[in-house]
Amino acid sequence: MQSIFYKSAQRLSPEGNRRSMQRSRAERESVPELPEVETMRRGVLPIVGSRIDAVIRPPCDRKPILMTPRIDAMDRRLRGKHIVDVGRRGKRVMINIEDEQTMVIEPRMTGLVLLADPPTLEHLRLRITLSGPAGDQLLFWDRRGLGTVRLLTPKQVETLVDAKLGVDALAITAEQLKAKLGKSQRAIKVALLDQAVVAGVGNLYAAELLFFAGIDPRTRCDRLTQVQWRRIQAAMRQVLEEAIRYEGSTLGDGTYRNALNGEGGYQAHHQVYARAGDPCPRCYDGVIRRIVQAQRSTFFCPVCQQKRGLHRLVVPI
Ligand SMILES: [Zn+2]
Repeated sequence: MQSIFYKSAQRLSPEGNRRSMQRSRAERESVPELPEVETMRRGVLPIVGSRIDAVIRPPCDRKPILMTPRIDAMDRRLRGKHIVDVGRRGKRVMINIEDEQTMVIEPRMTGLVLLADPPTLEHLRLRITLSGPAGDQLLFWDRRGLGTVRLLTPKQVETLVDAKLGVDALAITAEQLKAKLGKSQRAIKVALLDQAVVAGVGNLYAAELLFFAGIDPRTRCDRLTQVQWRRIQAAMRQVLEEAIRYEGSTLGDGTYRNALNGEGGYQAHHQVYARAGDPCPRCYDGVIRRIVQAQRSTFFCPVCQQKRGLHRLVVPI
């Protein structure tokens, strides 16, 4: 199959670099989305089979993160138990532990799940010491402290996590997307961020996938054709899988890291995100535009992303 990924020399130009220096704070900050959280999950998989020796909250001057139950109860419930599996639901890492307990870690804005030493000690929020072949610790680090760690029963996972989330973005079908959104008057870009519809897509990958699908992000859901829903689903899957292959996107603020405290690589492959003013890497006729939808930046090419039909240069997928 022909690659849907376009390579652009323009982005390395001095002009492009100057623009990237001017990008707003919000656009330099990566919020972990499905590819980043999936990379964290895969990175910590070696802890499966390890025994938990202690759950510790390191000394931290910052406002405490939301943790339930409190650290002493969490330690009591987990000490001596083995880790059974590490999964993911949307943008959460789910650590399954003996006795049907699940630790749900939601990184939110700046959280990281790590095996290696963290970027800073002052923002280290949780240390789980382990006995096993894979190393001796699992860490949760969070600069802003908006992330959460919860220890849940299967029933609680059902009501507090599963009931609030739509089908995973890697698994959802075009028919499911259309069934959920086909009557909605929301703009497609805004609707894709709704975790109750599809779990895992955030601001960055919504913009990227609509670029590959060749669809204008302002298109109302109820105006999208069956063929367009299919293109959205296919582009979603390809963009997310490709981003996982590159271990996610580490933007200018450098916050996002994989489980070994290394950078992701997909930021070098962004086509439209935070590239306002750059020439479109696909059609070269358009200039990437930034607009605001539901208080979030959206980036797109006004020439080859259309509300109807398909621009001749969009690879049909
Ligand atoms: Zn274009």
